[in-house]
Amino acid sequence: MHEYSLVQSLLKQVSEIAAANGGGDVEWVRLEVGQFAGVEIELLQIAFQELAPKALGLPVELLVIPIPLQVKCKDCDAISEMNDFHFSCKACGSERTWIISGEEIRLIDLGLTESNRRTQEYSK
Ligand SMILES: [Zn+2]
Repeated sequence: MHEYSLVQSLLKQVSEIAAANGGGDVEWVRLEVGQFAGVEIELLQIAFQELAPKALGLPVELLVIPIPLQVKCKDCDAISEMNDFHFSCKACGSERTWIISGEEIRLIDLGLTESNRRTQEYSK
């Protein structure tokens, strides 16, 4: 399933970031997911809850921020937010538009436990 491979590469990235920041336990991960990214947020959550404890040793909270689909008009430069998949400009009606957001899946940040950070400091 698409969401599982996505979560696997996300978890690899998360564990690398956690290691680079002192190696504390990861408490939460915040992710931006475009509405047009081709990902089911519900399936993403299921995959994440299943794979995160194996990859990181603990259950981790996944916070998903949905990013609306936005297109920019090639004729009048207006930016329109799409609520359906009807890619015409809302300002002039042109269909010559290109997608500027809503296709991305981006790791924004993550939370590490304070107790582990402190342990890190004492062990130096
Ligand atoms: Zn336009």
